[in-house]
Amino acid sequence: MRRAIYPGSFDPITNGHIDIIQRAASLFDELTIAVVQNKSKSPLLTLEERTSLVTAATEKIPNIRVIGYEGLLADLAQEQEIYTIIRGLRVLTDFDFEFQMALTNRRLCQKVDTVFLMTSEENSYLSSSAVREIASYNGDISSFVPTVVQKALAQKIKKIGG
Ligand code: ADP
Repeated sequence: MRRAIYPGSFDPITNGHIDIIQRAASLFDELTIAVVQNKSKSPLLTLEERTSLVTAATEKIPNIRVIGYEGLLADLAQEQEIYTIIRGLRVLTDFDFEFQMALTNRRLCQKVDTVFLMTSEENSYLSSSAVREIASYNGDISSFVPTVVQKALAQKIKKIGG
């Protein structure tokens, strides 16, 4: 069975992430989406909120598993015995960071390989941070995220008084 992990903050999941998820799910028998807690980022949504939105947004794709994870990706790979990591590439500027991370993960766990999938053109400019920014000013994010995410984000922003 060919298995892969797609890790990310997903704060929140966007149509760009879903694009990569669909591509990866068709290449692998099982795709584990790992919603991770990144210590260097302070997310808008909690790990639980992000995980449940990823689950809701991907419920129609059969060979998907969604987990929340706090820790090193190399440890997660070893725990799950899944040594293929999927990352999405948008623009050239993503490459530096992704290249460094792929090599670091391989240093931490020799068996790990990272597979990069290219997003479709219409999603190439899309980022969770842009979605958060637009939503915080009550802008229209309907073409960037699934409806379930749009609603959850509006509620969250109302709740925190944004
Ligand atoms: P992280 O904090 O790990 O970068 P993100 O949720 O921002 O988490 O991104 C997770 C992965 O999804 C990364 O590989 C990122 O490059 C990719 N990604 C984010 N937005 C898009 C998009 N619009 N198209 C394709 N890939 C994307």
